[in-house]
Amino acid sequence: MTISLPGLDAVLVTDEATLTACARDYGRVVHRMPSAVLRPAAVRDVVEALRSCGDQALPVAARGQGHSTAGQAQVESGLVIDMSTLDDIGPIQDGRMRVQAGATWRQVLSRTVPLGWSPPVVTGYTGLSVGGTLSMGGIGAASFRRGPQVDNVLALQVVTGEGQLMTCSSSEHPELFSAVLGGVGQYGVIVEATLALTPVAPRARYHLLGYDDADAFFADLRTLTTRDRVDGLYGQVLPSAQGGWSYLLHVVEFYSSTSSDSALLAGLRSAPGARTVMDLDTLAFSTVVDEQLEALGLTHLPRVWRDVFLPGSRIEAFVADALAELAAEELGPAGFVLLFPIRNAARPCALRLPEEEQVVLFDICTSGSPEDPDYVPTQLHEARSMYERARALGGTLYPIGSTPLTTEDWRTHYGSGYQALRTAKEHYDPAIVLTPGAEIF
Ligand SMILES: Cc1cc2nc3c(=O)[nH]c(=O)nc-3n(C[C@H](O)[C@H](O)[C@H](O)COP(=O)(O)OP(=O)(O)OC[C@H]3O[C@@H](n4cnc5c(N)ncnc54)[C@H](O)[C@@H]3O)c2cc1C
Repeated sequence: MTISLPGLDAVLVTDEATLTACARDYGRVVHRMPSAVLRPAAVRDVVEALRSCGDQALPVAARGQGHSTAGQAQVESGLVIDMSTLDDIGPIQDGRMRVQAGATWRQVLSRTVPLGWSPPVVTGYTGLSVGGTLSMGGIGAASFRRGPQVDNVLALQVVTGEGQLMTCSSSEHPELFSAVLGGVGQYGVIVEATLALTPVAPRARYHLLGYDDADAFFADLRTLTTRDRVDGLYGQVLPSAQGGWSYLLHVVEFYSSTSSDSALLAGLRSAPGARTVMDLDTLAFSTVVDEQLEALGLTHLPRVWRDVFLPGSRIEAFVADALAELAAEELGPAGFVLLFPIRNAARPCALRLPEEEQVVLFDICTSGSPEDPDYVPTQLHEARSMYERARALGGTLYPIGSTPLTTEDWRTHYGSGYQALRTAKEHYDPAIVLTPGAEIF
């Protein structure tokens, strides 16, 4: 199918290599071939494109870095807007900054950290786009005290499904603001975000605390969360050399001149022999995960990710059951298991979190062999079953992953918030052209 978007010929790309690249994502499981890819030179190109798509009822999706795993940023026979060309970063003033949505968090940090500022929450891997993670939620090591990234946005510029450029915030078009934050691209394309910034010290003291015992791991996770003294905190579960699982806490404190390890680690149950500490500059610390992932490579492998938010009060039993059923081999050569504690301030947005003040993101991220025909169906079944178990105890889905949901599941997922989102969809994307890959409406 040939797409015609009047006035946009210069920035419309239709070569085979570009279309194929946009027909896949980090999961390598779903492949939907677009008819064209737009590389906008300016925001007005996004406005024109969405106006045309709305008029022609042509499906369209923004693509940040394509790091979702189940086709969320893909569109069959439609238009993909490659947001990476819109990556301007404005001046940093009065503890805030404006950034175009195609910039990555790594680009943002490279500008803010040398000036002593940081967004309050940065994702663990920083090669993700600002617009992509704000459309999902955005969880990082600081979420245990500052919530998801969507809680730390001051304003957005959004192009709606009808091609209207709008500014929104908690006081200006609040219904659009809250629908778009965590809204999986359903109501408009974010072209710019105004982010709150927080001061950050130049050095990072990065502790890794090891555990053989789940009870001690969870006790320390809770102690550090409640004590609220460190700047970053998350957990990891690893296959143990003795069989079963071992546990790791990642803990960071930013500092200027001195940092007291003994005060930071006082009263924790991790064995002193299972602790390591690194001293890094803050910018180097922020890309530790990036370097590990990029060194691992293996980006050609299929990946099925299970990602659920759990009520903090239910985490120990849920994780124990999930790990009892998980074989280490299921993680494959590039898999991992992570736990991010999150403060839930219940701010209005489309990201659905369990109804407790402390919740936890639990990710089982598997990888498989492209030659194994059973890998994807087996793991999709497991993802669905873990989601259903989480849902039964008040958990919710983090839609970055692979779990297949029906439109009825989405209605249940949004619960009492569904009607407001349905109304926002009808109002801001009446032709229902935006982001069909997530299959929400
Ligand atoms: C290696 C890796 C590490 C990760 N680490 C973390 C982590 O630490 N914390 C975390 O929370 N998540 C993490 N994720 C998940 C990640 O947040 C999501 O997959 C996110 O969507 C990726 O951003 P992206 O720029 O690649 O978005 P894409 O995958 O390109 O897009 C995601 C969705 O958002 C929509 N979208 C993209 N840009 C816009 C826009 N400007 N306006 C409106 N809609 C838009 C797309 O259409 C799509 O539906 C990780 C993923 C990977 C692969």
